[in-house]
Amino acid sequence: MKYKTDYHVHPNYSIDASPVEIKEYCNKALELGLAEICFTTHVELEPERNDIDNFVILAGQKVSVFNEFWLDKYFEEIVEAQDEYAGTLKVKAGIEIGYCPGVEKTIEKMLNNYPFDFVLGAIHCLRHIAISSMKESPVYYESRDLATLRQDYFETLEEAVATGLFDCIAHVDLYSRYGFKHYGPDIHSIHQGAIEPIFEKMARKGMGLEINTSSLRRGLKEFHPSKEIVQLAAESGIEVFTVGSDAHSLEQLGDHIDEALELLKKLNLTNHGFTKRKAYPIEAGYLPLQAASGSESGK
Ligand SMILES: [Zn+2]
Ligand SMILES: [Zn+2]
Repeated sequence: MKYKTDYHVHPNYSIDASPVEIKEYCNKALELGLAEICFTTHVELEPERNDIDNFVILAGQKVSVFNEFWLDKYFEEIVEAQDEYAGTLKVKAGIEIGYCPGVEKTIEKMLNNYPFDFVLGAIHCLRHIAISSMKESPVYYESRDLATLRQDYFETLEEAVATGLFDCIAHVDLYSRYGFKHYGPDIHSIHQGAIEPIFEKMARKGMGLEINTSSLRRGLKEFHPSKEIVQLAAESGIEVFTVGSDAHSLEQLGDHIDEALELLKKLNLTNHGFTKRKAYPIEAGYLPLQAASGSESGK
C-alpha cells in the first residue's frame, strides 16, 4: 500500500476552518488510506492585526491565541486520538504559524511550552495585510507593483528562515493564489533570483519545503509551490519535503496528495514525516507503518 501523509490540516481550532473535530478527520484519514495526519492549527500573532485574527476557536468560542489554555486542550485531543488510532494511523501535533517580523519571542515561548511534532512557518501577511485572503489581498495588490511585492515577500521569507523557528515553509509561492488575477502570468517568475539564496539557507539549516495542494482547489494549475520552484529547492540542497492539503473541511482532506507524491517521485525527491520536530524520510512513498516512528534523520 502506498504510504500517504497529509501534513497540513486545519481542525475546528482554526478561525477560518469548518467545525470538524480532530477525531472526525482521523476517521476520514483512515477511509482515505492515509498513514499519517498532522494537524496544523493556524495562528497569527501580529499585534497590528490583534482585532482581526489573533484568535483560535475553543469549544465553539473565539479565544485569544495568547491564552495558552487552548493549546492544553489541543494537545489533549491529539494525544487521545494518538491512543485511539495507534497502529492504524499516525496522528501528529503540528501548528501553522504566520510569520511577521517582531513576533519571534511569542513564537519561541509557544514552541518551548508544547511538544510539537511539526512547525510550519508561513507568510500570510505583508505590511499587515493578509495576501492569503480573497477579501483582503486586493488592498495590498491594487496599490503595489510586482517589484514591491517581490521585495516585501522575499525579505519577509528570508527573515522567517533566519529565525530558525520553523521546521518547514508552507506554500512558499502563496502570493500567486490571488496575485495571479491581479498581475497576470508575470507573477510566476518573481521568485527567480530571490528564492535561491533563501533555499540555500534553508538547506543548511535542514529546513523542509511543503508541497501544498490547495492551489488546485482554487483553480491554479500547479501546486504551491510550482514545479519550477520545487526544482530550485532541490538544486539548492533542500532534502526535506512534506505534502499537505491545507484542508479546512472534511472533503478537502487528502486532496490531490497522490499527485503531490507523484511529483516528488518524478523529481527524485523524498516525502518526509516529522516526530517531535525531527524529520524522517518516507522512502519512495512507501514504508511499513511501524518503521515510521522513531527513525530520525534529515532535520
Ligand atoms: Zn497558510
Ligand atoms: Zn493552512
